[in-house]
Amino acid sequence: MSKNNEFGWNFDNSYASLPGVFYSRTNPAPVRSPKLVLINDSLASSLGLHAEALQGEEGAGVLAGNIIPEGAEPLAQAYAGHQFGHFTMLGDGRAVLLGEQVSPQGDRVDIQLKGAGRTPFSRGGDGRAALGPMLREYIISEAMHALGIPTTRSLAVVMTGERVYRETGLPGAVLTRVAASHLRVGTFQYAAHWGTEEDLRALADYTLKRHYPEAEKNENRYLSLLREVIKRQAELVAKWQLVGFVHGVMNTDNMTISGETIDYGPCAFMDRYDPKTVFSSIDIQGRYAYGNQPGIAGWNLARFAETLLPLLHEEQEKAIELAQAEISAFQDLYQAHWLSGMRAKLGISNEEREDQALIQDLLHMMEKHRADYTNTFRALTFHRLEGSSLFESEEFVQWRERWQARQERSKPSSRELMKNSNPAVIPRNQRVEEALEAAVERGDYCVMERLLRVLSDPYAHTAEQEKYADVPDPTIPYVTYCGT
Ligand code: AMP
Ligand code: MG
Repeated sequence: MSKNNEFGWNFDNSYASLPGVFYSRTNPAPVRSPKLVLINDSLASSLGLHAEALQGEEGAGVLAGNIIPEGAEPLAQAYAGHQFGHFTMLGDGRAVLLGEQVSPQGDRVDIQLKGAGRTPFSRGGDGRAALGPMLREYIISEAMHALGIPTTRSLAVVMTGERVYRETGLPGAVLTRVAASHLRVGTFQYAAHWGTEEDLRALADYTLKRHYPEAEKNENRYLSLLREVIKRQAELVAKWQLVGFVHGVMNTDNMTISGETIDYGPCAFMDRYDPKTVFSSIDIQGRYAYGNQPGIAGWNLARFAETLLPLLHEEQEKAIELAQAEISAFQDLYQAHWLSGMRAKLGISNEEREDQALIQDLLHMMEKHRADYTNTFRALTFHRLEGSSLFESEEFVQWRERWQARQERSKPSSRELMKNSNPAVIPRNQRVEEALEAAVERGDYCVMERLLRVLSDPYAHTAEQEKYADVPDPTIPYVTYCGT
């Protein structure tokens, strides 16, 4: 235990006040020789943490799990989940929650060490993580945050000085993940399946207090909880679609109750616009393809609603009726967010009925001409409409006239709106790989630092970002693997 609080820790452990079925007290397993390789200065300071101190030897020890900071009460959380449609018991098998950091502004966030060793939920796993996937999570989660998409954050990556064995031996690492909380749809599924009704109620009350204090006051607070989670997820998934983010493993344990994106295993950004885009090696059926994400989110939320039934109404039939009414609102909520985001991407600031058709027609053309999703919107933003089969096609010329006429009916129609809605850069797969290779193979973090810098302000449209807009060779398929 570190007595010294030069790091700025201000821990509280409210999750541990839940019934014992929800966690198992577990310390991180110490590692041989911690070495800090990445630290997020701005995130650290917003949490009241001192990045400089964390960079010292003791700081690396804390971030590796070798030293437990004062006030932390480490535990592994219990949860279940539907993985590719199959329900199973899961839990933190390679992550340990140190506790909740309460920032100087009074915000409460989970501080979790991912890759911190075996826990009672590890099953056959080693509880460890490899450096490459932890750096990948750092890059993509921070890019998502900069894009304005709710997400867990990454505070630091520490090498362990130990090897982890997958198909081959790899350098081990621990990522410090920061989240509004790690409450998942799967946490509720766990409570509904293995807990008592009291356990479920305690979890729902805890969640309301932590994330939805306004809803707590409503007459049917549990129905309000369901409604609010549906709203946040509808907005979140719309934001994913608008930037071409493919999560890749939307199992119910990877869907948060807070509305943050979580679990950056096999995710990647789409290059060419194609609703069937899948990157994950294990997603053979394309269950989690880009175009399926809104539908899957709705499916996951229906699983969430099921867990709440005993709390919604004492008569089951009535409870089902109430839940169904909320669930059926999801697609419309999603569609409204998506449509308003798409209007902004096209520089349209008012609403007309034909907007949906205008947008769909563009997307169909993009699909047909295999156009790059991000760069097409950039080209539209800066009126650089040449040099591709899409822009030179007759159908596009006609569409463009419709679009321009539509923009004229939108006051103000603005380049600014488009610049702020169409990123100059996304974490392109080949750029992420290049940064990971330099870091993992050669210990060179310069490539990654540069990439993190251009991704940190994606709507700036600087000259440096221009270089990061190149698209990968479409003949080389990109495949991602679960970050285990
Ligand atoms: P994920 O693919 O990260 O969503 O993890 C799914 C489940 O597998 C969770 O319960 C994880 O804790 C568990 N898990 C993943 N990797 C490991 C590992 N190396 N050791 C133990 N459990 C793991
Ligand atoms: Mg997960």
